[in-house]
Amino acid sequence: MRMVDVHCHLTAPEFEGRVESIVSEARSSGVEALITSGQGLQDSLKALELASIDGVYASLGVPPYELGDHVEVMELIRRNRGRVVAVGEVGLDYWRAGRETWEAQRRVFRDFIHLARELDLPLVIHSRSAGKYAIEILLEERAERVVMHAFDGAASHAVRAAEHGIMFSIPPSIARSPQKQKLVKRVPLENLLLESDAPALAPSPGEINHPRNVRVSVEWVSRLKGLDVEKVAEALWENTFRVFELRV
Ligand SMILES: [Zn+2]
Repeated sequence: MRMVDVHCHLTAPEFEGRVESIVSEARSSGVEALITSGQGLQDSLKALELASIDGVYASLGVPPYELGDHVEVMELIRRNRGRVVAVGEVGLDYWRAGRETWEAQRRVFRDFIHLARELDLPLVIHSRSAGKYAIEILLEERAERVVMHAFDGAASHAVRAAEHGIMFSIPPSIARSPQKQKLVKRVPLENLLLESDAPALAPSPGEINHPRNVRVSVEWVSRLKGLDVEKVAEALWENTFRVFELRV
């Protein structure tokens, strides 16, 4: 069974000094590629460094609740177009940042969507308590190759987005999330991908998550779709390469 973790945070303090062993452990359990997502300038610089490890790719962005250095991050992405496989995570977070920031969040989000189009890169989207609004903007901007990571919105919004080609990456926390289980039941297999979001979103609350746990996600997708797990893994593997250009 071969899998791709399309969204994790190998730069997290939890993994400090152990990234290579975490990656090799993931690879020996079938996770052949991992996309580590930079959040802000310093973290994005680290993510770029980690992309020199075999099987690791970098996606660079800013968390919508901490937009301080978004201009620098946009410049960093432009300068490193050849070493970056996606723009993100970027998006909207109406939960962690107050209403007074929402307008600025939307403006910066559109800037990143335009950058992704300019550089012909896919987008990895963080949305929290703002899924419907993030999708509205993405459709309005006719964004292409879009992944909603750990989408927390209603399945009905996800289904509508999927009809427009938007993808949803499913974290191992699906094991304890009725919302994500419902989403997987309703969104077609062609629109699903795997992510760990490690060190966050472990199958059990409070645990440190690892990229190898995308296996938990694929098992849940297989169970909810009533399809053979090997076949599901292969379908999701193929979906990955419709979105990302990885040299696997
Ligand atoms: Zn993340």
